[in-house]
Amino acid sequence: MAASGKLASFRLPPLPTVGELIKLYKLRAEKQLSQNFLLDLRLTDKIVRQAGNLRDAHVCEVGPGPGGLTRSILNAGAADLLVVEKDTRFIPGLTLLSEAAPGKVRIVHGDILTYRMDRGFPPNISKPWEEDPPNLHIIGNLPFNVSTPLIIQWLENMANRTGPFVYGRTRLTLTFQKEVAERLTASTGSKQRSRLSIMAQYLCTVRSCFTIPGRAFVPKPEVDVGVVHFTPLVQPQIQQPFKVVEKVIRNIFQFRRKYCYRGVENLFPEACRVELTQEMMQNADVDPTLRPTELTIPHIRALVDSYAHLCTREPSLLSYEFREELRLKHPSGQRNTPTDTFNDT
Ligand code: SAM
Repeated sequence: MAASGKLASFRLPPLPTVGELIKLYKLRAEKQLSQNFLLDLRLTDKIVRQAGNLRDAHVCEVGPGPGGLTRSILNAGAADLLVVEKDTRFIPGLTLLSEAAPGKVRIVHGDILTYRMDRGFPPNISKPWEEDPPNLHIIGNLPFNVSTPLIIQWLENMANRTGPFVYGRTRLTLTFQKEVAERLTASTGSKQRSRLSIMAQYLCTVRSCFTIPGRAFVPKPEVDVGVVHFTPLVQPQIQQPFKVVEKVIRNIFQFRRKYCYRGVENLFPEACRVELTQEMMQNADVDPTLRPTELTIPHIRALVDSYAHLCTREPSLLSYEFREELRLKHPSGQRNTPTDTFNDT
């Protein structure tokens, strides 16, 4: 007996393969846009499975390019797929795909860093934050050059329940270069533990899914790629404004190989640095000789709470930036700043 129309799952009709589309539209990968394509549909299906059940889901795909992952999302049963692609050359191929899945694909030619995701989906799909996540997923084989700023932007959105998180605890399934994926999921004490680990883990459950070898992409990137899944927590593990949390973590990880109090010192102007550092560490009850990588999220929470308390007493501390004080003291640029790990997120 044939399956009823309702139960039968959606399959795309026969289409040119992704490889054929690339040839047809002469889609040479642009290095500037970090284009590395996935042509193996078993791999794109595997990425999509990490997102969970997509039956009737709303999905935003970041950077669909020639559309391999896009096909897997449609085959998984998504009902409404919004794709955001910066490079015009991919629009005809994506239009072909949207014609093969009538009414399911919406194409936005734009930049994901500025796209207003809070307006991209119907408000009635929203779920209260405390409830289960909404049936909305963000999925993407991200361009490497935007992946870190994008996840930081989305973490901030998550903390403020803006952007993709106006709909509730929207889940993300994204690819990163392996080293970044390892930082995002690194636990206390591990070599990869960094600012990004804490920022992500205080706000979400972060799951490392699997690694894709660089050779699976066309063209082959220099590095392997990690797939990471994020589910926002109902209750963030640190209950202070994102900017304050970010500032404390940034300063602490400024000297990742030194004792953690060294980074804490830079939160305070020179004139009161010693006393306030001591007060902040003591109130937080954190051993000042722990290294930043050894700090747990409860340690960081205690430090951020302690810093926020000092800022309530002395509000001007909030706008103090160590680097700014240095710049004023050494306008010629001859200064002794910690450069070793500054770009380590
Ligand atoms: N999803 C495709 C795949 O898996 O084969 C392409 C992945 S490729 C690594 C990254 C894609 O993101 C490219 O199509 C590129 O044009 C697009 N892209 C780059 N920067 C973007 C941005 N700021 N906003 C939206 N798309 C972007």
